[in-house]
Amino acid sequence: MSSASDTRTMNGHCLCGAVRVTAREIGNKVGACHCTMCRRWAGGPFLEVDCGTDIEFADEDNIAVFNSSDWAERGFCRTCGTHLFYRLKGTGQHMVPVGLFENDAGLVFDTQVFIDEKPAYYEFANQTTNLTGEELFKMFGGG
Ligand SMILES: [Zn+2]
Ligand SMILES: [Zn+2]
Repeated sequence: MSSASDTRTMNGHCLCGAVRVTAREIGNKVGACHCTMCRRWAGGPFLEVDCGTDIEFADEDNIAVFNSSDWAERGFCRTCGTHLFYRLKGTGQHMVPVGLFENDAGLVFDTQVFIDEKPAYYEFANQTTNLTGEELFKMFGGG
């Protein structure tokens, strides 16, 4: 578990500026999800930071939310289509595209998940912890 000192506040916004985001307990670890749904959503792997639950969006009216599975939903800007979050319904935890944030100092590419769904045509050179979908579900105690 990370301690509070490992987290900080970061600000970001969508491409058109209609939605601004403030994340107050953001860590320094960047993850990639290679799952089929994320790649269809983003056009490539989803590069995200775990923002926990202490996160604020303005204006909420500019956000459309797609109910993508029984356990999660995905938000995007109604005007420019920028992806804003993957949110777990049970906990309210937000995974936010790292590219939204203004300051990327100190971020470390740490983990890749659903590595078993990664297509063969690309591969990151970074040394990361790689988990299959099954390993990820086990870590969260689900299945
Ligand atoms: Zn926008
Ligand atoms: Zn995914």
